[in-house]
Formats: sequence, C-alpha cells, structure tokens
Amino acid sequence: MLIIPDLQEYRSTNTPTYKMTHQFPSLSPEQKEELATIAQRIVAPGKGILAADESVGTMGKRLQNINVENTEENRRCFRDLLFSVDPTIAESVGGVIFFHETLYQKSDKGILFPQVVKEKGIVVGIKVDKGTAALNGTDGETTTQGLDGLSERCSQYKKDGCNFAKWRCVLKISDSCPSALAIAENANVLARYASICQQNGLVPIVEPEILPDGEHDLQRCQYVTEKVLAAVYKALSDHHVYLEGTLLKPNMEVAMATVTALRRTVPVSVPGICFLSGGQSEEEASLNLNAINQTPLARPWRLTFSYGRALQASALAVWQGQAGKREAAQEAFCSRAKINGLASKGEYKPTGEADQAATQSLYTASYVY
Ligand code: 13P
Repeated sequence: MLIIPDLQEYRSTNTPTYKMTHQFPSLSPEQKEELATIAQRIVAPGKGILAADESVGTMGKRLQNINVENTEENRRCFRDLLFSVDPTIAESVGGVIFFHETLYQKSDKGILFPQVVKEKGIVVGIKVDKGTAALNGTDGETTTQGLDGLSERCSQYKKDGCNFAKWRCVLKISDSCPSALAIAENANVLARYASICQQNGLVPIVEPEILPDGEHDLQRCQYVTEKVLAAVYKALSDHHVYLEGTLLKPNMEVAMATVTALRRTVPVSVPGICFLSGGQSEEEASLNLNAINQTPLARPWRLTFSYGRALQASALAVWQGQAGKREAAQEAFCSRAKINGLASKGEYKPTGEADQAATQSLYTASYVY
C-alpha cells in the first residue's frame, strides 16, 4: 500500500491534492476571484462595452469621413468627448476598450483618460493584439500577432489601470475557408493570449470574429461559427484558462441562429458574451441584440454589446470636429448606449424614428480594425 506520510497535512491545507482540478494549478483562488469579479462587473445587467480601441490608422478613416485631420490632438478630442459624458453612462456601459495611445492621453481637464473612465465606475480595458498576419499557403487567411512580450505589456497595463484586454482574430467564409489550419491556429493563439492575460490579472476578451463577407447562406454561417467556437473552447481548456474570468466577443446577426450556435458551444461558466457590431448600422446592431435577448431559448450567459462602429457612428456624424457640436455628439452617443443597454435586456422598443446616421450601413469588406 502506498503511504503518503504527510497525508494529514495535505488534507488540512486549503488546496489538498485530492481536490485539485489539475496537477499544476495556474491561478490562485484570489486571482480567480479577482478575474471573475471584473468580468461580472463589465457585463452587469443592462451594461455592455464601448470598443474605442481603433488604431491610429482606423481612427484616421473615421475622421476622414467627417473631414477631420488624423492628428493625435483630434483623436484625443473625440475620445475626450466620449469619455466625458454624464456619469449616468455607467448605467449602460460597464467597460471601455482603449488603444495604447489613448491610455496615456489626458482629458481637456488634464486628467488621464483611464482615471476619467474609472471615476464613473467603468472598467478600463486595452487592445493588446498587434493585428493580423498572413497564414501562407491559404486562401488569404490570417492569424493574429502580438504574443512576444505580451506578458510584460499586460503587467504594465495592469499597473496603468487596465483590468481587461481584447485580442481580435479574424476568420472568413468561402468555399475553402475557414481552413482547418486557420481554425486551429486562431483558437490556439486566442487561448495562449487568454492564459497570459489571466496571469497578469486582466480578463481576456476572446474575439474570434467571423467576417460576414461572401455569398454564403445563414446555415453555413451558423455551421462555421459552431466549428470555430468549439475549437476555441477546446483550446481554452487545453491552456487551463479560467472561463469564469473571460468574456467572449463573437459575430452575430440573426437571433435564433446566433443563440443556437452559442448554446451548442459556449460553456455556462462564461459570464458574458459581448457581440461585435461588424459593420451593421447602429439601429440594426441594437435590434439584433434585442432580438437575441428575446429568443425563447435558455441563455445562461449575459448577452450584450461590445460595439465600436455601432456606438460611435452617430456621434462622429454630429461632431464633425466642431467644438460647438460636442454636446450634441455626446447626446447621440449616450442615447445609442442607452438603447443598447435596453437591448441587452431585450427591452428596447424602437420608435421608428432612428435618424439617417443610425440606419446607415457601416460595413467595409475584409474589415481591418
Ligand atoms: P465593431 O463593433 O465596429 O465591429 O468593432 C468592435 C471591435 O472591437 C472589433 O474588434
């Protein structure tokens, strides 16, 4: 018989061997608790995420549309407009995703943006990926780069006030896509990123975006979404990622197909699913989220928004770079956030008065964020 001499001692400690989930636990109970609490705060009832993490180049395209020059000051001005709205914004926005540059910029009042956002009770997040890179020998498929030095960057971001992170992978649908390689590689890189984030106290938003581009039908989109998400959750499990301390950011459109795909693939331990808007108009993105939250299927996670384009389009259109339009632009942003907060509870009742900016498609082919 095998005798373990200090069995008594093992049993009296907090983490006795026989209770361990696996042999080499990667996070302490305190770390897990912190991550789970952050994730739940971000997706508390009625709340979603403002994705304001456009890179310098992407922000340039947004500003170009309203004839505003892409300078650091103009980018700061627009972010200041968003972050300085009335504190009641925190009733519908639980988290804001920053781009690196914005994290170190200050408001008109000279306060660092992360501080401005935190003071409202909103959680600060940071985009940590470094964009896509070609997967050679595929039909233009990609992986996402940025793992080198990621742990050090995450550790610094945590010190600088961030509590969650985002990493976007992109998959596309065609006759030959997504390939087995693209599915496996993107699932693995998302899991590796998620594991590094959690070690540094950041809740990872796992974003495997499947582009809507192409002629495929709804059935194929749902099928591919299920295959991709199943691979992602297998990889997260393989990498010992603590699911209670993660959020998923997938594509969505038709409510029944979206919820069915999620129910088949996303564990109930995941606290929230925050959809990207993916080029839908503001109004479409709100209506689809609302419909998702009205489906007659059990939905064990919070289903909410993490919109970039569909939360900022009206505000940008109103602002036009003019100081005198700042307040009106802030109102446009707040009203969109409020609508999405309602949609995240399935309580949005459209009035049919959505203005032109809110119904205009924001779609760009092969979108690069
Ligand atoms: P859209 O809502 O504009 O698709 O962007 C959200 C996002 O953060 C994509 O990574």
